[in-house]
Amino acid sequence: MKYFGKQKKENKTSTEAAKVSLEPVMNANDNLEEDKDPDAGFTCSGCNSEFRLSEIKKNLYVCPECGKHAKISAKRRVISLADPGTFRRLNVEIPFKNPLNYPEYSEKISGLQDKTGLDEGVVSGVCEIKGYKTVVAVMASEFLMGSMGIAVGEKITRTFEVADKMNLPVIIFTASGGARMQEGILSLMQMAKTSAAVQKFSKGGGLFVACLTHPTTGGVSASFATLADITLAEPGALIGFAGPRVIEQTIGQKLPEGFQRAEYLEEHGFVDQIVPRGEMRDTLAQILKLHEKRRKSWLRLEI
Ligand SMILES: [Zn+2]
Repeated sequence: MKYFGKQKKENKTSTEAAKVSLEPVMNANDNLEEDKDPDAGFTCSGCNSEFRLSEIKKNLYVCPECGKHAKISAKRRVISLADPGTFRRLNVEIPFKNPLNYPEYSEKISGLQDKTGLDEGVVSGVCEIKGYKTVVAVMASEFLMGSMGIAVGEKITRTFEVADKMNLPVIIFTASGGARMQEGILSLMQMAKTSAAVQKFSKGGGLFVACLTHPTTGGVSASFATLADITLAEPGALIGFAGPRVIEQTIGQKLPEGFQRAEYLEEHGFVDQIVPRGEMRDTLAQILKLHEKRRKSWLRLEI
């Protein structure tokens, strides 16, 4: 658990550029569910079927009855993807900022850090997937809806920069309500910043795979999430900029059925492939295998 933990507070007041380091390998024995009773009930929001928590957990939180993919935390996502004992968190020290002096914003962030064990709305690191080394970033919908503010934008940017230096691909799991309103225009600027980071990474020949999960909306869908070389999505994920109701009210028309769902977007060429959660590791390993290039030894960092 501690490897996803908060950044050291003594460095938070520093205004110098964010420092990046890799933390030790995550302990395979870290129990992410120590506070949950395995016999507790779990109700599928798709079909209302009841399951035991241990049963649904084994199925990666996908309903065996209707196939509904329930939201999973960023930590669980990392565990479901990475080869055991290979994930090393990228520690980016970013001082907390409240540029608009938004009331109770600081308290809200601290509270979420304590509750989720995350420092911000995205977790990134280096790991292996079926033996293929890659950089992975996972947005955390449990942290202010994975909204993108200064810290998330910086962490995404650093993710690409580190991958470029290490000559590794980048896989990002997106889940976001969009820009973080508490940071105003500065959160919107993260769209340009992260998009520029993707472009720089791509120009250097890096492979970027985006996995769009429910929901991927707003400023995240309008920036790095939709700039990948390969775009995957989870079944049933809501992917779009504004919500369907807002669009209907604006254009005065009824939207087609399934509009903004992953399946509709795949049909229209926006998503390359819909991948059920249980097949995601195999699919990503296959993509990494196909795109593996000889690493330039002089660029390789020892991790
Ligand atoms: Zn169900």
